[in-house]
Amino acid sequence: MSGSSASTVDRSASGCRDLPVLKERGQREVFCGLTGIIWLHRKMQDAFFLIVGSRTCAHLMQSAAGVMIFAEPRFGTAIMEEKDLAGMADVHEELDRVVGRLLSRRPDIRTLFLVGSCPSEVIKLDLSKAAERLGGIHSPRVRVLSYTGSGIETTFTEGEDTCLTALVPELPEAPADERALLVVGTMADVVEDQMRRVFDSLEMGPVRFFPPRRTDELPPVGPGTRVLMAQPWVNETVAALAKRGATRIPAPYPFGVEGTLAWLTAAAGAWGIEAERVLEVTKRARERSTAALERYRQVLEGKRIFFFPDSQIEIPLARFLRRELGMRPVEVGTPFLHREHMAAELDLLPADEGLVLSEGQDVERQLDRAFQAEPDLTVCGLGLANPLEARGLATKWAIELVFTPIHGFDQAGDLAELFARPLRRRNLLEV
Ligand code: SF4
Repeated sequence: MSGSSASTVDRSASGCRDLPVLKERGQREVFCGLTGIIWLHRKMQDAFFLIVGSRTCAHLMQSAAGVMIFAEPRFGTAIMEEKDLAGMADVHEELDRVVGRLLSRRPDIRTLFLVGSCPSEVIKLDLSKAAERLGGIHSPRVRVLSYTGSGIETTFTEGEDTCLTALVPELPEAPADERALLVVGTMADVVEDQMRRVFDSLEMGPVRFFPPRRTDELPPVGPGTRVLMAQPWVNETVAALAKRGATRIPAPYPFGVEGTLAWLTAAAGAWGIEAERVLEVTKRARERSTAALERYRQVLEGKRIFFFPDSQIEIPLARFLRRELGMRPVEVGTPFLHREHMAAELDLLPADEGLVLSEGQDVERQLDRAFQAEPDLTVCGLGLANPLEARGLATKWAIELVFTPIHGFDQAGDLAELFARPLRRRNLLEV
């Protein structure tokens, strides 16, 4: 939002902080945490993700990553065969062999993540022990860590959280008197560069990003570290950073003009920088993106939207669509609701329009609610899109919202486009 007021967010409307949440614990239709590898392997360019899993895991990664791979992949699957699962073979020995072969072929790897899956969990394969053993063999050249991406323990974006949590103990200790900003959660490099330029203009720093582009340059952490969450799903990572002395800066997430401005203003506030200065520094970017959003308002205003739970960015996106584009969220589902980390978003999402906030999933019941609500647009996982389309509902694949750079001012128009496209397509089909 542009404007001359120093106030970055309008909290006058009644928000959703106290709205009762519909909690469901039934069958769910979401990806497992392995999917996070798709953006994590592109971010950390000297890391390799070795999934210890089955052919199903390999197929999931292949189809989810499919079109996205354009360089030599930095992930793979060590496939457990039936004899491994039946306990007839020594999986640890086999894993040591696979890792040895991989690391001798790929001298560029500095960190190896062993990623747990449902099969490795079912046979209780202790990957943290394996990581310790392999670390003993391959360090100091390669750091070996483990985390779980299993569908039993994690959903979709939680894989990034378990991965980063595993990295936190590796972060060096920051000097006791150093005040530094740590932006936590993967953003596309191009967005990270934009954000860095704004922080530089505000003369804030040092500013570091976690995960970093190279794992041999891990950011330090300590009592002077101020954490700014870029993604709402890094909850456990932030808790682990807090144990190392870091403090979180409460803020909405940087989606849309308003969210990005509020996010930057909160960070600047921790450096004692006035909100007016942030408005000044971001004026041109805000004007550009506000103009870009205006075009989409014509398509989206008044349209009703239903979010199935998927990635944990549903609430921030509903806030953006409601406040900046005039859409009407009918139900906003999220796999988990971290009330503290979502508080600033809930305050901004108007609660006075019969909106349902739901946490977890009972997919059949939720589908019934969606059919009854007849929204103009439904955001859901790939598995639900076809049945919904067959029943005449326009859908948006939630996964695209995670794979596309959508943070920051300059991406606000692209974010709106992701919602406008399926509606335009439907209009064309109906003509
Ligand atoms: S980890 Fe589990 S849910 Fe994920 S692909 Fe493998 S078997 Fe399927």
